[in-house]
Amino acid sequence: MGDVVIVGGGIVGTSLAMFLSSTNMKVTLLEKQSVASEATGLSAGTIYNAGIPKAPGSGAAEHVLHHLSTNIYANLHKTHDIEFTKCGCLQLANTEEELVLAKETYERESALMTNPSSSIHFLDTSEKVQKILPEASSSVLGAVYTPNSSQVNASLAAHAFAELASSNGATIVEKAQVKSINKKNNVYTVTTTDNNEFLAKIVVVAAGINCNDVLDDEYKINLFPVKGQMRMSGLSSDNTSFNSLPVIYWFESYNYWKQNNGQLTHDNYLKRLTHHAYGKRSPNGKLFFGGDRFAPQRNNDYDVSETIISDLFFNKIYTSIPELEPFFENEEAGAWSGIMPFACDGLPTIDVLDSDGLYIAAGFGANGIMLGPGASYLLSKWIKSGNKQIHLKKFERRN
Ligand SMILES: Cc1cc2nc3c(=O)[nH]c(=O)nc-3n(C[C@H](O)[C@H](O)[C@H](O)COP(=O)(O)OP(=O)(O)OC[C@H]3O[C@@H](n4cnc5c(N)ncnc54)[C@H](O)[C@@H]3O)c2cc1C
Repeated sequence: MGDVVIVGGGIVGTSLAMFLSSTNMKVTLLEKQSVASEATGLSAGTIYNAGIPKAPGSGAAEHVLHHLSTNIYANLHKTHDIEFTKCGCLQLANTEEELVLAKETYERESALMTNPSSSIHFLDTSEKVQKILPEASSSVLGAVYTPNSSQVNASLAAHAFAELASSNGATIVEKAQVKSINKKNNVYTVTTTDNNEFLAKIVVVAAGINCNDVLDDEYKINLFPVKGQMRMSGLSSDNTSFNSLPVIYWFESYNYWKQNNGQLTHDNYLKRLTHHAYGKRSPNGKLFFGGDRFAPQRNNDYDVSETIISDLFFNKIYTSIPELEPFFENEEAGAWSGIMPFACDGLPTIDVLDSDGLYIAAGFGANGIMLGPGASYLLSKWIKSGNKQIHLKKFERRN
């Protein structure tokens, strides 16, 4: 019998396998397809980081996870090329209203950080933004700049975590789809669709959008699928513009969500409610922009809507950064979509479900790459010590 069975080989499952196996626990990870084949492998890999948060309980739980994840990726990149770069992030404001929100965001987040003067800045003119992003048009009125933000290739990172877990003695089993989890005499039996059985004292369900498939009704969490779509540039930006492009987010969607208390950019009929846009440059020069989110029309709906994505680029992205157009409007450019596991409030659930040994770490929505490894680190400490980590309190099961 093992110590821990982890269900799911995304960024959460693989990083948790690495942390737990590094403490000599006997870990088995069961993945129904292959490592990073779902949201993790389809993500854009941007990581927001406003700095080092103040003491526990300051209300900065997500920021703590952002900061931890950044450090974990930076360390991993020393031994594995996971295309991690600390490129900074600009959150652009295009209207006076968005500029007010940008200032509020800056003030709120500065108050949560230990040394805000070095980690978060409010830029209140186009000219100040253009010092960091010379390609920004004058339609950009200001921005919040966070120099510690970064980006990563999340698929490479998950594979690196899995490799390190294996070298610590963990067993990573791909093409192993879990169908049930049962408990008898304080031992869990995890059964796959091939009827293989894995016994352990602890089970962690980190199966993204499919978590509820393996949980009894009493343990199911509030989770629904949201489709996100991105484009990859045809041309590389080497030796031209954008050589030091920060991660870019736009305030339009945050402003909309603040006013409407919602998380989607489209309704069920795919009617646009607001634009959601963000992007980055990977170290090999490819540019990735996109970000619109909407309700999938069926299971495994990975169709890309060219009409919607074009609308986003022509009416949002190019108006702020016109020089991006030739990179994306050529025949080599591509697009893809993926399903994000969302809770209604946008927060993940990281908790013990049966007050014993059945844990969940899921519902990371649009932020699992920036939250995931930090969450896994704290969860591994909880599992190993039996003491719940204070920063995980915000992510308790809520329904
Ligand atoms: C287009 C797009 C862009 C994104 N951009 C960003 C970004 O810039 N920054 C950011 O932080 N986040 C981003 N995200 C969100 C991020 O990708 C997710 O929040 C994160 O990957 C969730 O990780 P996870 O490990 O919880 O889930 P997943 O990566 O979905 O992993 C769950 C795994 O469980 C496996 N599984 C499911 N059921 C079973 C079963 N029964 N048995 C065994 N295995 C099972 C699945 O095959 C899957 O591999 C983006 C997502 C998308 C789709």
